[in-house]
Amino acid sequence: MPGTWRPRARFRTLKRPALLRRALDERRIDLHTHTIASDGTLTPTALVELAARKGLAAIAITDHDTLAAIPDARAVGEKLGVEVIAGVELSVSHAGADVHLLGYFVDPTNAALAERLARFRAVREQRGARMVERLRELGVDITLAEVMAEAKGAALGRPHVARALVAKGIVKSIPEAFDQWLADGRPAHVPKEKLGAQEAIALVHGARGVAVLAHPGLLPEASRYRIIHDLAALGLDGVEVEHSRHSSEERHRLRDLARELDLVETGGSDFHGENKPGVDLGYGHQGNVRVTVATLAELRRKNK
Ligand code: AMP
Ligand code: FE
Ligand code: FE
Ligand code: ZN
Repeated sequence: MPGTWRPRARFRTLKRPALLRRALDERRIDLHTHTIASDGTLTPTALVELAARKGLAAIAITDHDTLAAIPDARAVGEKLGVEVIAGVELSVSHAGADVHLLGYFVDPTNAALAERLARFRAVREQRGARMVERLRELGVDITLAEVMAEAKGAALGRPHVARALVAKGIVKSIPEAFDQWLADGRPAHVPKEKLGAQEAIALVHGARGVAVLAHPGLLPEASRYRIIHDLAALGLDGVEVEHSRHSSEERHRLRDLARELDLVETGGSDFHGENKPGVDLGYGHQGNVRVTVATLAELRRKNK
């Protein structure tokens, strides 16, 4: 009878899609992850498999200065139903601070980006050699070969030096390696070549991506909000609000600022595998990170 059909039809066309859309929007994602292509400890395949086990709908791989993990991750992601977003984390110098910029949806075939990243990786190797020299001058028994063996061809970073120091029994843990030797201001610290903010944002936009400020909560407090204003004026698209190392007060301040400056509020765990114990893929530090598909949709809207 028509009388019994009409309400059901209405239920189908109106209520269910709205509910379904909401349920889909609430699926969890992680927009900040690292693999062995930079300073994470999981292969791209293992990272995507872990994401699938955790029920994540999508992850962005944001290795430092490389997009090498993306093809393998995508292949596995397609099989397991995890969307893999091509991302990269760039090191920027602005107002005397070490600023990390995330690029999302970048085109891995973009020549300008690929060339720049290749140069940064080459500079990272030279810097690795200088860090080893510095350590040896300071009486630490370590060789470049040992550091390279930790990196296995990845974009070389301080965590690889730290791992070599742990492997040699010179320090007990990665954080200790940073505290004693490698952190900014410590005796074996060697600065890295960095991009200017304007140049970095232009590089990401040129590769058809969106630019998001990573973990602003780790910036020096005195210049933090000024840096966000400056980057917003240069065309920044979003700001990482949810992050393993952001306090809830910091998140509140960042949310207000994001609204004021029309920036997308994003987030991610900054997962590095065993290199950052206690940071869980998709969940952060003791569950303090929650990002959903809705955020991804907002970023995509910005990208048009
Ligand atoms: P690099 O890009 O070579 O300067 O190395 C920076 C990376 O080292 C960051 O992305 C973190 O993964 C890691 N890192 C920085 N500071 C620390 C710390 N205090 N303890 C452990 N890991 C750190
Ligand atoms: Fe890192
Ligand atoms: Fe970072
Ligand atoms: Zn990171």
